[in-house]
Amino acid sequence: MLDAAPDEAFMREALRQAEKAFKAEEVPIGAVVVRAGRVIAKAYNQVEMLKDATAHAEMLAITQAEAAVGDWRLNDCDLYVTKEPCAMCAGALVHVRMRRVIFGCPDERSGGAGGAINLLQMPTFNHRCDISMGVLQQECASLLQSFFRARRNPGGGAV
Ligand SMILES: [Zn+2]
Repeated sequence: MLDAAPDEAFMREALRQAEKAFKAEEVPIGAVVVRAGRVIAKAYNQVEMLKDATAHAEMLAITQAEAAVGDWRLNDCDLYVTKEPCAMCAGALVHVRMRRVIFGCPDERSGGAGGAINLLQMPTFNHRCDISMGVLQQECASLLQSFFRARRNPGGGAV
């Protein structure tokens, strides 16, 4: 349980990023990358703004982290994200050799970290990430729920 408090603190940072996405009318997902106890990258989903389907929070945070570290290898870094990474992001996390992936709410339909498929821990891949799930799960999930509720119900939902 020693890990619980720092995990929650960093997930709060990821949640703050997700709230920025919400305000920008993007699907509210946020991510941060932590190295040696310090946040070195933070990003939120910008698919609509950049008109780029690959502009998920995790992808943008990975690119920032690589620039901060000065290497594509992030094997001493941990990524916190509010929702379970999709298959694309999980693939990228393996490519950069992320040490740990910590996520808030699971995605049973399309999650790439054990929900639909576990690409982070494939026996034949050359890297496997440690996974922690369910950190601030309720808060991460309710942000997404209120976003989609407002979308289904324009004019009657959250601002
Ligand atoms: Zn993704």
